[in-house]
Amino acid sequence: MSGKFDVIIAGGGPTGSTAACVLARKGFKVAIIDKAEFPRKKLCGGLITHKTIQTLEKVFDCNADLLKEKGIINFESPEYSIHYRDHKIRDAKSSIPFRFVDRVDFDYFLLQKAANAGAHIFTGEEITCCNYKDAEIKTKSNRIFKGKYLIGADGVNSTIRKFLPYDKEKWRENMASTIEIIFDAKDFPREVKKPELYIGHLKAGYLWVFPAKGKVVTGIGALNRCTTNFKATYMDFLKSQGIVNPESLPMRGFPLPYGNFMKNPCFGRTILAGDAAGLVEPLFGEGIFYALQSGRYVADAIAKGIVENKNPEQFYIPRLEKYVFPELQYSNRLRWTLFYSQRLLKHMSFKIAFKSMPRLLADMVHGVRSYKFMLKKKWD
Ligand SMILES: Cc1cc2nc3c(=O)[nH]c(=O)nc-3n(C[C@H](O)[C@H](O)[C@H](O)COP(=O)(O)OP(=O)(O)OC[C@H]3O[C@@H](n4cnc5c(N)ncnc54)[C@H](O)[C@@H]3O)c2cc1C
Repeated sequence: MSGKFDVIIAGGGPTGSTAACVLARKGFKVAIIDKAEFPRKKLCGGLITHKTIQTLEKVFDCNADLLKEKGIINFESPEYSIHYRDHKIRDAKSSIPFRFVDRVDFDYFLLQKAANAGAHIFTGEEITCCNYKDAEIKTKSNRIFKGKYLIGADGVNSTIRKFLPYDKEKWRENMASTIEIIFDAKDFPREVKKPELYIGHLKAGYLWVFPAKGKVVTGIGALNRCTTNFKATYMDFLKSQGIVNPESLPMRGFPLPYGNFMKNPCFGRTILAGDAAGLVEPLFGEGIFYALQSGRYVADAIAKGIVENKNPEQFYIPRLEKYVFPELQYSNRLRWTLFYSQRLLKHMSFKIAFKSMPRLLADMVHGVRSYKFMLKKKWD
């Protein structure tokens, strides 16, 4: 036996660190188990929104200024542009800047915050087995960790989820693939000062060119079941950007949950959050905010469940239903409206959607407005 804890958290990404920080600050004995040694890489565009900053403030006591001072936020821009193939639909300006982080630094920073709050961190420990009914896991090195509760925060390929009775077919149906190539800014054919989105190359997905300090992050993401010639589309796009022989460049791919969020990620003493539960916004693929927010919600629910001797599910699910699911459901509707209408109207559908209301669109992404009819959104 390697340890008995109140809560075991599988995965030390944003979901796991947030849950651990919340629980440790409430006085619970909590362990994070992660297979990686930190700082570790995570494929990501690194874009964080206003609602993400607000949650970071609530949980980790750090605001955008502090994150900039520490170099965790390495770029920001209030401007963005949207393109339909080679038509620029518009350059627009948001009232709130889009901010960028390198996940190597960001995730390590959050993990250290969790450790400082009192969480026990076990890195380099790959979970290979899980007894979800007893909230018990086993690692590759034969260590066993047992808790009153187990949080599966181990990302899209969650090992914990593999041991749970969930709907695998539904999960697979809405999986996306992504690839990224990161350039040194000096090697990219032009200066990139704002996030750029490129639509119209794929039936259900998009390409991005994001700025970062000294770098340019390019990528493609698309729903598997609607996509053919995924890599070729990306290569053609990069060539259109002036990149010579992109096939020769180092590229990395990773799956992305893209519309397959679980409406009930609770399995008795084992509860999923973040990517492991598919909690990613289905239009733009924003996941960091939903990782933080669900990490916070699941931690609050377990804390309350232990104190009041009740099932945490009764606290976790209603909060997801009230604040998170409506965003995911309505962004999913918006995505299908846009992706279907592009087949008929080509760039006109995006012109109508984006040209007339660029501020509202940015407010929606930042979480100031809801994906539900663009109403004002209040997060708890
Ligand atoms: C190409 C790409 C671009 C993206 N761009 C953005 C973006 O710009 N903005 C945004 O908001 N979101 C973006 N996302 C989504 C975002 O990266 C995820 O939603 C977010 O990382 C989810 O956090 P998490 O903590 O749930 O999972 P993760 O960050 O994946 O963390 C999971 C952790 O679990 C650990 N783990 C996994 N398996 C095991 C195991 N068996 N044993 C022990 N540990 C294990 C891993 O090592 C990892 O540290 C992007 C995703 C991709 C793929």
